[in-house]
Amino acid sequence: MDIGGLETVVANSAYVSARGSVDASAASTLRDKKMRAKLKLPHITQCEHLKDQMDLNFQSICLRQPIGKRLFQQFLEDQEAFKAAGGLWKSMEEYAASEENERTQKAQKTVNQFFDSASKTFCSFLEEKVVMRVKEDAKHGRADLFKETEQHLLKHLEDQALAKYKDSLFFARFLQFKWLEGQSVTEEWFLDFRVLGKGGFGEVCACQMRATGKMYANKKLNKKRLKKRNGYEGAIVEKRILAKVHSRFIVTLAYAFQTKVDLCLVMTLMNGGDLRYHVYNVDEKNPGFPESRAVFYTAQIICGLEHLHQNRIIYRDLKPENVLLDDAGHVRLSDLGLAVELPEGKDKTKGYAGTPGFMAPELLQNQEYDWSVDYFTLGVTLYEMIEAKGPFRSRGEKVENKEVTRRILHDPVQYSEKFSPTCQAACEGLLAKDPAGRLGFRDNQCAQLKALPLFQKMNWGRLEAGLLEPPFVPDPKTVYAKDIEEVGAFSTVKGVMLDDQDKAFYEEFSSGNIPIPWQEEMVETGVIRELNIWGPKGTIPRDLDH
Ligand code: ADP
Ligand code: MG
Ligand code: MG
Repeated sequence: MDIGGLETVVANSAYVSARGSVDASAASTLRDKKMRAKLKLPHITQCEHLKDQMDLNFQSICLRQPIGKRLFQQFLEDQEAFKAAGGLWKSMEEYAASEENERTQKAQKTVNQFFDSASKTFCSFLEEKVVMRVKEDAKHGRADLFKETEQHLLKHLEDQALAKYKDSLFFARFLQFKWLEGQSVTEEWFLDFRVLGKGGFGEVCACQMRATGKMYANKKLNKKRLKKRNGYEGAIVEKRILAKVHSRFIVTLAYAFQTKVDLCLVMTLMNGGDLRYHVYNVDEKNPGFPESRAVFYTAQIICGLEHLHQNRIIYRDLKPENVLLDDAGHVRLSDLGLAVELPEGKDKTKGYAGTPGFMAPELLQNQEYDWSVDYFTLGVTLYEMIEAKGPFRSRGEKVENKEVTRRILHDPVQYSEKFSPTCQAACEGLLAKDPAGRLGFRDNQCAQLKALPLFQKMNWGRLEAGLLEPPFVPDPKTVYAKDIEEVGAFSTVKGVMLDDQDKAFYEEFSSGNIPIPWQEEMVETGVIRELNIWGPKGTIPRDLDH
């Protein structure tokens, strides 16, 4: 074996063993004890001022932020007046996550405990008609059985419990966590593993958050290369958009920080490789996916697009290469460097952006466009998963961009016998040249697309909850990336000087922990359990005693 090959083997094995043991429970065994010891809660007097800088609405502190929600639920459990409401909430959450065949039994249990006026934990704040309806419907065990109850419950908690929570020790504890979350992030918190891929401005490596053991991907953007190639705008857009979206179908940004040479985006680690690799390289003699597999990925991509579009973001760069698989075989959209966010009140944008062979006709003709361009790229992507070739160019075909553009604008798409009639119909609907007639996003959702015959067997509720089994599970011992020497190195950037203006930009970029993913990490890896210690009942922990 040559030295290069050996390097890959050594790097792969370190990486495989680190990530193999990183299901949440084992993460703690891989932690760096010294770094873990640095995660400690300050005394409450150091945090009280944070209240004045935070958004204190119910949604934000009691529902969206995982640590906030957890402490709020602990508060409910602790208060006689809210115990029943807290219990009902947990019970409904369990119901939502349960398998279809357990539902009626779970529903009945919940009804007996909380909807029956003879029960100790009867929730008298629920309106009578809601109680009646749930009792009536419980035997059907539908997914949305408690939808209305949940709205009532949350409204009740917001009106009755929120103010008391904000005066409680549980909220004080939340402020301590918020303080910890707000500490700056530097490279010493991360341990790099092997390179996973190469981007335009630097490498993407696997890395581990040393204090918790959680594995991430670290996308590095070389400062000088960014400056030389005018990459600042794209970098800040990508960071801003990634920090804003929270969907299981889009990679999540957990940290943004800087080193002397790079800006770093620490994101969800997607170990399973990209769809392009799976379409062409896993089974080279038999490229492409069976339709059911392509349909599963397409459905997950639709959920990702829907979330982006609901947040007024146009992706513009959907293609198999940018859709990545995780350990379980679920996919997420990545690489949001070409995305744009439409300001409120403005529904179109302009500009040439995307990948040749994927860009929609209206974009190529320099017209104004909206989300519709992303459904054209979805059509190209679905086509390519089935046919193992793009609709407008063959793999390896030497063809000028001008010719590809001409085909996109004028040529009808050919379908081989690999396409079922429903799959062909979906592609045709997505690849419509006129955006007005194209399938896509209407009335703030993708309902029309989801109702296509192609998705007849899809259980969208379970898909969106991450409960459907993927059609293919990546082998945990395989590294679905090119060998290190094939990834290729970067040349050094010469003749670029960094000044104060650049430094100001880097500061803006390096905003540190992104609250929701950071809190998820603390919960998932058990760090919150270790830190959230309470004294014996009736006593106040020393760090909250003021
Ligand atoms: P660029 O915007 O410069 O093209 P990308 O975001 O596409 O950079 O990343 C470059 C490559 O790094 C990808 O093609 C992929 O192989 C790998 N990569 C990117 N993000 C991740 C991730 N979250 N997990 C695993 N690998 C990734
Ligand atoms: Mg890319
Ligand atoms: Mg990019």
